Amino acid sequence: MEIEIFACQQCGYCCQGSTTVSLDENDRQRLAAYLQMDYDEVEKRYLRKTGNVVQMKIIDGHCIFFKNGCTVHPGKPWRCTQWPLHPSMLSDEANYLAIRESCPGINKGLSFAEFCSGLAKILQKNKA
Ligand code: SF4
Ligand code: SF4
Repeated sequence: MEIEIFACQQCGYCCQGSTTVSLDENDRQRLAAYLQMDYDEVEKRYLRKTGNVVQMKIIDGHCIFFKNGCTVHPGKPWRCTQWPLHPSMLSDEANYLAIRESCPGINKGLSFAEFCSGLAKILQKNKA
């Protein structure tokens, strides 16, 4: 039986803070399509630009799309989709520990090695 390394608790912690993940070109187009709006309008209403970096606006300390969970789930940026199972954790235990602290969905009953073994399998599966 496969060990479950992560189960989202829908706490919303990862959608809070003073910044959000950045959106690449595909993210912007997918978000506009999901919202059924012109991209320019999406940018004006929901996004903020800092130089070349495009992120979602922050309202009351959380992503503008957060309201009892993500309200744009099918159209959210790929970095949101990937979180918290980031490949960088495989080679960086400190990063793993920091993410584990901030995300209650990570199975804390596992050793780092067990977690990495499970994560490597998931990443491999996603690549296939
Ligand atoms: S912090 Fe972790 S458990 Fe909470 S919503 Fe984000 S991914 Fe899910
Ligand atoms: S797009 Fe959704 S998942 Fe991503 S930060 Fe905003 S509310 Fe959270």
